[in-house]
Amino acid sequence: MFFSIMQNPMIFKTFELIVFQASFLNLVFIGKQGVGKGTYAQRLKTEFGIPQISTGDLLREEIKSGSELGKKLEAIMNSGSLVPDEIVIKMFEKRIQQGDAEKGFILDGFPRTENQAKTLDSLMKKTRKKIDLVLNFIAPDKVLLERLTGRRQCRQCGTIYHIKNVRPKIDGICDKCSGQLYQRDDDKEEAIRKRWGLYEKQTKPVLSFYKKQKKIVEIDASKEVSEIYPNIIKTLKSKKIIG
Ligand SMILES: [Zn+2]
Repeated sequence: MFFSIMQNPMIFKTFELIVFQASFLNLVFIGKQGVGKGTYAQRLKTEFGIPQISTGDLLREEIKSGSELGKKLEAIMNSGSLVPDEIVIKMFEKRIQQGDAEKGFILDGFPRTENQAKTLDSLMKKTRKKIDLVLNFIAPDKVLLERLTGRRQCRQCGTIYHIKNVRPKIDGICDKCSGQLYQRDDDKEEAIRKRWGLYEKQTKPVLSFYKKQKKIVEIDASKEVSEIYPNIIKTLKSKKIIG
């Protein structure tokens, strides 16, 4: 049976087409911390049933597991440095092969280096898939800093507030559990600027890598979520990635 398919070019073509259609929405989100990639990924996930795979989540899961690797990662992240390429690549390789990523996925925070982008490309080829589009979210530093430095988290239950946008009923106190709100170290301006600096240096080659493949579109992320999400959908439609 298999040989007869191979010998008939028409049927083999159809077979190939079906394999390609099975991976219909493979997206990469690029953007500095604070542009809100996670929010839009969550919405796409709800609408299209494809998982959002973020470096942050994969790292947090590993740390939570208490493994040796997790402990190492925790130390690296606390120092504000970026996690080594080979660790990140291994984690993603494993993750995009899981069943829920069969029909597509949104990569958030990956690839972050040119090496990661190249590795991802060859990984995709191996499974007869491809990256459909790379969305580059852009917003001025001032807007992003206001979003990030205004965040406050509850020490007890972890709920996130914002001093301007999501204020608790009583300043500094959690609405849900009366716990104390605090500003996380990684939400302080100095830590943010340090990460941005590293991010920009590493991401530039990733952007030109995808520019060469003509896969990049820019999304204005300085607006409200209610405006940005429809823009994303419009873009995906105009590129004929979704119907
Ligand atoms: Zn709380």
